[in-house]
Amino acid sequence: MGDGAGEDIWNASKEIFEEAVIKAYDGEKSITWVPLIAGQRSLEKTGNLLPEETLEEMKKHGIAIKGPLTTPVGEGFRSVNVFLRQVFDLYVCMRPIRYMRGMPSPIRMPERVNFIIFRENTEDLYKGIEWKEGTSEANTFIAFLKERMNVTLSDDTGVGVKPISRGATRRFTRWVIDYAIKHNRKTITVVHKGNIMKYTEGAFREWAYDVAKEFQKNITFDSQNDKILFNDRIADNMFMQVILRPEEYDILLCPNLNGDYLSDACAALIGGLGVAPGANIGDDMAIFEPTHGSAPKYAGKDMINPTAFLLSGAMLFSYIGLDNVSKLIERAIEETIQDRIVTYDLARQMDGVKPVKCSEFGEAVKKRIKNSSQWTVDSSQ
Ligand code: NAP
Repeated sequence: MGDGAGEDIWNASKEIFEEAVIKAYDGEKSITWVPLIAGQRSLEKTGNLLPEETLEEMKKHGIAIKGPLTTPVGEGFRSVNVFLRQVFDLYVCMRPIRYMRGMPSPIRMPERVNFIIFRENTEDLYKGIEWKEGTSEANTFIAFLKERMNVTLSDDTGVGVKPISRGATRRFTRWVIDYAIKHNRKTITVVHKGNIMKYTEGAFREWAYDVAKEFQKNITFDSQNDKILFNDRIADNMFMQVILRPEEYDILLCPNLNGDYLSDACAALIGGLGVAPGANIGDDMAIFEPTHGSAPKYAGKDMINPTAFLLSGAMLFSYIGLDNVSKLIERAIEETIQDRIVTYDLARQMDGVKPVKCSEFGEAVKKRIKNSSQWTVDSSQ
């Protein structure tokens, strides 16, 4: 269920998932949950942020939905979220950015927003290779740079390493291209800062193109025809492009940090972090989780928006082939929002709308699933 406000969204969502499966399969399928503990709650209970048992169970089942976990800034331990991605080698982070009718948006014509951010999940600055200013590790590193590389840094500098490898970039790009082909996507745009970071982000761009060239049958580089257009944008420009010309983008292929920043910025186009779902996918395991964190200031207040978590669940159902369940959840959310039943985050962007609680929003979605007729989830819809 996660830390902070994670418990609220879990409480509002659990029965929706159960109801959607029952509804989509006329009671022939149901969910058996395997609850696993991690994060602050686990630390308090077991003295361990991520118990071995949790990892073992996850490995056994190969699929999980996870609430957000708190990572204190600047303190001893690293992020459990990042650790999970690394330990299970979940090298693809997938974050759909799709506008739903009825949702508030700061841009004109938000219905043009419909793309997916793919973020390489294992490398870049998230590898966690950094040393605090003044430590012997930082001093050793600074001395090495000075003696061997002729680079001078002041000795009050904290240092980090940004690794981006050919191997990790190639397998990530290949996965995304396969996805694009399978799902009839139109464009793949590499988002990089290769003009400044030539041998990390610049290399990421180059290696991505190398892989794309192996897909001659499906990919084109100059003009849009019936093949997938493969192009690239410098990251800062990309932030402008997604606001001004979102319709030109379809799949964004990003190194880790760019993908992280872009995810939150793009979430703002479609209502905010409260509605932005995500998945971390590897060859043997997939963990579904919202883009947002544990929103600790709202913990226990029954206020935050469970939509991002619900849509992450919808992604999970699609992933395991239960598309009807995910359609049912998505449609019920859309209908609820169109009826102007929304939590505080959306209400404050809409005129004359009084926010409902997290749990009330969940009830409204559940009711719409219960009352929906089977035709509404027909795959031809
Ligand atoms: P955050 O928890 O995502 O919250 C930032 C802001 O986004 C909130 O204050 C709120 O904005 C809005 N928000 C987030 N989720 C929302 C929801 N479901 N409904 C409505 N509004 C929502 O980011 P943070 O405060 O930077 O991070 C808190 C903790 O979460 C940190 O420890 C961080 O490391 C961790 N984190 C975990 C994950 C993960 O588990 N995958 C991801 C990111 C961050 P307003 O205040 O404007 O209402």
